[in-house]
Amino acid sequence: MRISIALLMVLLYSAPLPAQPKVVTLRTGGANSLIGGFQDLNHTYVSLADLAQGLGLKTFELSSTKKLSVYSDSGSLLFTPANNFVVVSTAGETKVLQMPIPTLLANGKMYLAAEYAADYFSRIINGTLEFDEEKSEFVYSPPISGLPAITGVRVQAKANGAVIEIGMESLPKAYEASITSTGLGGQPDMLYVTLMPASADVEKLDSLPATDVFSQIVAIQNPNSVQLSFRLKQKYVSKQVFVDSTTNSVIVALYSSADVQKIFSEELRKKLENEKKNWRLDVIVIDPGHGGKDPGTIGVHGTEEKNVALAIGLDLRSDLRRVLPKVKVVMTRDKDVFVPLDERGQIANEAGGKLFISLHCNSMPHKPNPMHGIETYFLRPGKTGDAIRIAAQENAAIKYENDYEKKYKTYDADNMILTTMAHSAYVKYSESLAGLIEDVVSSVASVTDNGVSQAGFYVLIGASMPAVLVETGYLSNVREERYLRSKKGQRAIAKGIADAIVKFKAEYEKNFTQD
Ligand SMILES: [Zn+2]
Repeated sequence: MRISIALLMVLLYSAPLPAQPKVVTLRTGGANSLIGGFQDLNHTYVSLADLAQGLGLKTFELSSTKKLSVYSDSGSLLFTPANNFVVVSTAGETKVLQMPIPTLLANGKMYLAAEYAADYFSRIINGTLEFDEEKSEFVYSPPISGLPAITGVRVQAKANGAVIEIGMESLPKAYEASITSTGLGGQPDMLYVTLMPASADVEKLDSLPATDVFSQIVAIQNPNSVQLSFRLKQKYVSKQVFVDSTTNSVIVALYSSADVQKIFSEELRKKLENEKKNWRLDVIVIDPGHGGKDPGTIGVHGTEEKNVALAIGLDLRSDLRRVLPKVKVVMTRDKDVFVPLDERGQIANEAGGKLFISLHCNSMPHKPNPMHGIETYFLRPGKTGDAIRIAAQENAAIKYENDYEKKYKTYDADNMILTTMAHSAYVKYSESLAGLIEDVVSSVASVTDNGVSQAGFYVLIGASMPAVLVETGYLSNVREERYLRSKKGQRAIAKGIADAIVKFKAEYEKNFTQD
């Protein structure tokens, strides 16, 4: 008798297919998933891979042994087919636990009795998983606290795209976004954003009203993560996702294929139509870089960048007053004083500036160095090589400011993209002024034209007007240092910039004041 019961048990547990196919629901508080399984006399067996997927966990199956690993952020489970043991790893600790009944392998998938599956999965997820035998469903309960909640979703439509800002209690460790295009007529494109760890009030998010950017949000709470699906109202060709640590938000920038320059020019033109009578390039702001306690870069023979920048700036002011007597010229500094980078933009805005020219001298990391010539920059996030090096060099001036870490926190490389989005209206004009400065200065002064580049300079962000930064030459080059510290060199460069501005003004006003 004993033997026959044991035999029966063995037969039962090693039976290739339990009698009844069965589908079990997994409730996570968001969208439910369906878990494949079977029902026998005593147990509901569920597919371990299905359950892992439903919980948003990763799996790996060893093809030779059919062993299945399930991974979460906090641990892993290793199941072996037709085996009573499960290997549970959490927080660097690995235990081999004996399960009351073994796993089953059927149709190439591994199954385990649902109540035990719930128990072992609960060990590696945040929150708990329970199996309700009566309703034949899994119920996931998130932990009472611990997962940073989503506090809100804000949207801004831009001329060339959109920005979706997902506010959180604290920043998630991981985030990703993808756009899918169904390519089918009438089907909207979708944006999927996954945040982890995160929790969400799913009902509240699902009931958010439609915006200019999306018609609906669907939120899914997984054990550790939240997935947000946005039904987009239009097509976007690319996206960027990053976090803003000052506001604890995850920001998704969506870019449409719109011709940004055209849109912005149109907008600017429209805006200016109203004030056409008043519109003139009538205020020019000169910004001599550095000053006071911030000497800027130091030349081979000790020339300080701040002094060269100020001398050229003052010469440029005299030239502009002479050649454009009706134009007001404003200096961000006209003596050797320290002015924080953001204040420079404020001075320019408050003065009603229509053009912002920041003056600097370049330097190579090792001096003396043969590198020489003039470079002119306009604002765009720096991506490569020299542009990054020079932006870093000039942006380093913030270290002379109190609280600079807090103040400039939002200006990290990614965030700069957003900020420069707002600047796009001026990009075309900044670029054309930069080109003119390169051409004209290199033709009237003894400096080589190294061309126009784009980089993320803090000082240019604050000025709401066409803005350029001129690296007038290299103090790390012995010959150029001598030229830059000479009155002759400073005058020649200032004259070149003034001439370029005169040309620019003529073109600029023609664009906006023709009837
Ligand atoms: Zn500088």
